Amino acid sequence: MEFAFSDEAIAFEHEVQGFLGREWGPEMRMAGLEGDNYDGERAFRKKLADRGWLTMAWPEEFGGQRRSFEEMYLFQEACNYVGAPKATVAVQQVGPTLMQFGTEEQKARFLPPIARGEVEFALGYTEPDSGTDLASLQLRAVRDGDDYVMNGIKRFTSSAHRSEYVWLAARTNPEVPKHRGISMFLVDLKTPGITVMPIWTLGGYRTNEVYWDNVRVPKDALVGEENRGWYYAAHALDHERISIFTVSGVRAVLDALLDWAKAKDREGRRPIDQPRVRTALAGFKVELEVLQCLSYRNLGMLKRGEHPNHEASIVKIFSTEMMQRLANEGTRLLGPYGQLTPEEPRAPIGGRIEQAYRSAVMPTFGAGSNEVMRNIIATRGFGLPRA
Ligand SMILES: Cc1cc2nc3c(=O)[nH]c(=O)nc-3n(C[C@H](O)[C@H](O)[C@H](O)COP(=O)(O)OP(=O)(O)OC[C@H]3O[C@@H](n4cnc5c(N)ncnc54)[C@H](O)[C@@H]3O)c2cc1C
Repeated sequence: MEFAFSDEAIAFEHEVQGFLGREWGPEMRMAGLEGDNYDGERAFRKKLADRGWLTMAWPEEFGGQRRSFEEMYLFQEACNYVGAPKATVAVQQVGPTLMQFGTEEQKARFLPPIARGEVEFALGYTEPDSGTDLASLQLRAVRDGDDYVMNGIKRFTSSAHRSEYVWLAARTNPEVPKHRGISMFLVDLKTPGITVMPIWTLGGYRTNEVYWDNVRVPKDALVGEENRGWYYAAHALDHERISIFTVSGVRAVLDALLDWAKAKDREGRRPIDQPRVRTALAGFKVELEVLQCLSYRNLGMLKRGEHPNHEASIVKIFSTEMMQRLANEGTRLLGPYGQLTPEEPRAPIGGRIEQAYRSAVMPTFGAGSNEVMRNIIATRGFGLPRA
């Protein structure tokens, strides 16, 4: 089996790593660990945009770079390793969907500013009673003259407090089977009647609940045809493929633990010399190699023109649950000091493991819960009947 990357891809990876070393130092990473570092992230995205890297996956006619899957993968891995912001909902989902289904006016209005890193979108899918079973969503959009009038609640609309627009799924027809009555809209978040309230997560990350109270949205905010939104949303999610099977976020945490274990403490002792520490870290090194192979398999599929499906679910489960195991064990290895938060000067490894411990919960259900991923593996991978 040959896992080598092409010389061009390796050269590009080095270029990206050099850029990240200059533009996304440890202080930027720490600023983003707890709460918002929005200005820093947006300024960084503009630098990505200046190099065309923000939209490298877009077709050339819209400012893309015709990068290979290998280059896109290595780019994502390099950014994840240092915790740098990557492509947004606007770049990954809204842009490519508008290219295919948007009007000429929508393309002209949204694509250039998205590519310049000037316009960001929140993702408005989930509702209080509609998460995994997304097609049951209830936020109503009723046509009234030249507008749609919207009423309802969206939950976990993550960047609604810091984006210009929301990519919104709303119910336009309650009379038909649930998948067939949904439409997609591009809504300005400053429209009167929209109220954004914070929900703070265990990991320090802010998401939101968004209330829609008689919000009037012009009819040209509709994407494609009315009631075809389910199809457009599925199309949009398709563009997230590479980002769900990268592994370098886990590698970065393991490397940080290894550096800590190899360094001498105040008494001149190295944690790595303790059998318990060696055994734990060696076990994780083995798991990381397994994860890397699974991830490369998906990359290989993309290169052959295949679509990783249950294979992507396998990596998603393995990487998110490995991150939890690693953060749990890391916290144990660091002892009582390991529970100090990143702001504490005495926190080992800058509080990184404590932060990883808290933030490792959400990815096991974000982007599709791991239970649902297991169902996908069972049905599409093993051909088992649906439960
Ligand atoms: C921090 C955070 C940020 C988020 N950001 C966004 C965002 O920006 N935009 C957005 O639209 N959404 C966002 N989400 C929502 C996220 O996608 C949902 O939380 C997720 O889809 C699960 O939905 P739910 O929370 O309603 O849980 P539910 O669907 O109610 O599931 C509850 C439990 O039941 C299990 N379950 C449900 N159905 C099945 C089934 N068929 N088989 C087996 N088990 C099942 C689930 O695995 C889970 O354990 C975010 C969530 C969080 C926590």
